[in-house]
Amino acid sequence: MKVVVPDEYKYLYVTDDEHPIVKIPAPVLYEKAVDVERVTKRHQMLADNMQRIMRAARGVGLAAPQIGVSERLIVVAPENRPTVIFNPKVLKAEGSQIGEEGCLSIPGLYGDVDRAEFVEIGGLDRKGRESTWEMDGIAARVALHEIDHLDGILFTEKVDPATLYWQHPSEKNKAE
Ligand SMILES: [Zn+2]
Repeated sequence: MKVVVPDEYKYLYVTDDEHPIVKIPAPVLYEKAVDVERVTKRHQMLADNMQRIMRAARGVGLAAPQIGVSERLIVVAPENRPTVIFNPKVLKAEGSQIGEEGCLSIPGLYGDVDRAEFVEIGGLDRKGRESTWEMDGIAARVALHEIDHLDGILFTEKVDPATLYWQHPSEKNKAE
């Protein structure tokens, strides 16, 4: 679905040195990101940088395309402890939950999305080791939102359109 940004929110949609998160309609947000063949020092620095940017933006998750890097890397941080996953793959998904989402690449827009309640995700950890992660509730929601980013899918494609609304991000504290 096409998002029309209200005039009073347009100033939030800049990307520059001080606002490194890429906003719609940047093409990188609609592309399929490529696998990370080997986790190198560069990737670890990228992961650390993403965590810094996510925290500064008061986010709970971030995918590499959101900082303009079309590689399969996500950070999931529903609470304070962040999880870095390269090449994340959903191995198992069970149940369903409806909850509100926002996106750091679509600042100001929120709405309800139906996601699995529990997921098992496989991938590589920050050191490049094969691992699996089990997540439920908000962590599962954030992880699925971020994995969608790696496939060029934004939450606005899955949102219940009747629940969409605009609110200034400074009045909210959750976005992915
Ligand atoms: Zn997002």
